[in-house]
Amino acid sequence: MHKITIIGSGFAGLTAVRAIRKQDKTAEITLISPKAELVYMPSLIWVPSGAASKKDIVIPLDNFFKRMKVQHIVSEVTGLENQGRSVITPIGTYENDALIIASGGRFIKKLPGIEHAITPCEGLSAAEQIRDRVKVMDGGSIAVGFSGNPKEPSAMRGGPMFEFLFGLDTQLRAEGRRDKFNLNFFTPAAKPGARLGEKAVDGLLSEMKKRNITTHLGHKMKQFTTDKVVTEGGEFAADLILFMPGMTGNTWFDNTDLARSTGGLLKANQFCEVEGFDKVFVAGDSGSFPGPEWMPKQAHMADLQAAAAAKNALDNLDDPTIVSRKFSGNSLISLNIKNKIMITEPIKTIS
Ligand SMILES: Cc1cc2nc3c(=O)[nH]c(=O)nc-3n(C[C@H](O)[C@H](O)[C@H](O)COP(=O)(O)OP(=O)(O)OC[C@H]3O[C@@H](n4cnc5c(N)ncnc54)[C@H](O)[C@@H]3O)c2cc1C
Repeated sequence: MHKITIIGSGFAGLTAVRAIRKQDKTAEITLISPKAELVYMPSLIWVPSGAASKKDIVIPLDNFFKRMKVQHIVSEVTGLENQGRSVITPIGTYENDALIIASGGRFIKKLPGIEHAITPCEGLSAAEQIRDRVKVMDGGSIAVGFSGNPKEPSAMRGGPMFEFLFGLDTQLRAEGRRDKFNLNFFTPAAKPGARLGEKAVDGLLSEMKKRNITTHLGHKMKQFTTDKVVTEGGEFAADLILFMPGMTGNTWFDNTDLARSTGGLLKANQFCEVEGFDKVFVAGDSGSFPGPEWMPKQAHMADLQAAAAAKNALDNLDDPTIVSRKFSGNSLISLNIKNKIMITEPIKTIS
């Protein structure tokens, strides 16, 4: 019986569970995450207007774990030992034959005054804060923006910020109070949304103009204060700041020897293996994957990567001779890849 450990119960972790269980009815699956729940982040954008609330966002997983025969460990991973075969948590160490890391990303919160901004993608309570703040505002300036990780161009989450921006505009119009608010969109990139293509940039900017949303583009961020956004190209008033920083790797990765990309994510090959490690896979926002330059960090990508990681892990456990490997320097080279599946071609979408 194969012992497979999964870290994280987001999109990647849960897809890995389903893919493993589909292929292997007897595998012993252990999943470690802080809570037996999935936070359905794509629906956070509906929280400020009240169109979605906790019951739509937080999905309990107890029944899912029971059905899939998963042992759920309520804890947070702090490190690995034994080349990934032992997973360390504050409540115990868990051994595995194969490991799938799916613990998501971490937002870089280095900007001075970042505590004055709400980072909506951190979860439900952040989205609820936006809802509650906007509700009690009589008017004023709302600034909405995002930045990236300069060392990892794919580790940015701009799409949801456009959704929050246009959502707020629509909401305030529906409430008959749009005229009392200034909406200001900002980003250090001169062409926001450029990863989606030139047409997308033009479309987004002309939609902002049409909706009377002002822009502050192409200036490096300096700081936030209680009532303004300060950039190298000037400052502007903001009674409420929504800001999405770039993403990097989880802090627990620092306690391991796992290979990292220059942007701090786990460095994966096209089979979702962490480079240089045997039967240690990564899926979702935790990883840096080879692929086209515009490849996004999204839930549907997390699903594709998790399905590939699960299948490759099982195939390798079922027949270790399928893949013969050798070390070259620090890298583990796969010599025979005939039975391994690669990450499916990503789909280009807005978020
Ligand atoms: C507002 C918003 C809108 C979005 N819209 C879309 C969309 O329309 N389409 C789309 O495809 N994507 C969208 N996304 C992106 C999508 O939500 C992410 O890409 C996806 O959640 C990544 O999945 P994941 O499993 O890699 O990570 P996560 O969903 O972040 O899950 C990580 C899991 O790991 C757990 N974890 C973290 N640290 C530890 C630890 N130390 N030990 C154990 N467990 C740990 C967490 O608790 C969590 O269960 C959106 C995101 C946001 C925020």
